[in-house]
Amino acid sequence: MRERFLRTTNALASAAHDLKTPLAIMNGYVELLQSGKLGTLNDRQREVLTDMHSSGQRLQTFIQDFLSYSVLEIGEIRMQYEPGDMNACLSEVCRLWSSRFQERGLALYFLANDKLSPFPFDSAKIQRVISNLLENASKFTPSGGTVWLHAEPYMWERRAAEKPGITSDRRRQSTSLPNSIKVSVSDTGPGIPAEYHIEVFDDFFRLPQTEKQSDGMGLGLAIARRLVNGMGGKIWVESDPGSGCKFSFIIPLKPVPNSTNKGKNK
Ligand code: ADP
Repeated sequence: MRERFLRTTNALASAAHDLKTPLAIMNGYVELLQSGKLGTLNDRQREVLTDMHSSGQRLQTFIQDFLSYSVLEIGEIRMQYEPGDMNACLSEVCRLWSSRFQERGLALYFLANDKLSPFPFDSAKIQRVISNLLENASKFTPSGGTVWLHAEPYMWERRAAEKPGITSDRRRQSTSLPNSIKVSVSDTGPGIPAEYHIEVFDDFFRLPQTEKQSDGMGLGLAIARRLVNGMGGKIWVESDPGSGCKFSFIIPLKPVPNSTNKGKNK
């Protein structure tokens, strides 16, 4: 059964890969036409190109998501740990997302935390996880809303803390040295009902109420979960419907050896 699933995923991944290059070329030509370098455009032509551009971008995101998903599902995740500054890593992702937030009338806040010391982590994969969370926050938070990115040192007691953030864990946190970093993305959007807090991280899962409202394949959080688990960490969501969501993940300060990652949150 699993073998058949992997064969299908493999075949779909190679089809998705073949679509990538022609699509990138088409998107490039659309941008060239939009730039006006090939001649002046009338309003209707501009409108058509805007639609083509956003559809092209959407298709590119789908393909990228599907490819990342299949790589994670079929293969082994190779982490590239290098000593780095988490504040710099996070502020770079914020910079990349700032124009998207501005376009959507959303405020994005990130305040560097001077309690974070350099430690070895896989910067590109952390940025991928944060990007997926910021993309959702920007997609689901109505205009006028606010999104915060926050990071802090954290004492993670794996065995004792079934659910990170519970009171006893917080009490211990004040007496022990941090062994991990906790990163959170909070928004003022519609929130997620408690019964879906585990399911939202499943492959291809989308909330019934958002299915018709926004694009997406339901893979962003599944990819984030695999990446965080691959780093020996854990990801979860807290939310009261109507008052936004807070997605958090923790990763250990000491990297775990490279591992295959097919499992759920530990
Ligand atoms: P996608 O965004 O492509 O649908 P994700 O795996 O990133 O897939 O998210 C799964 C689902 O979780 C989304 O379709 C949405 O229903 C819900 N969701 C994720 N992030 C948020 C958020 N910040 N606010 C409200 N709902 C969210």
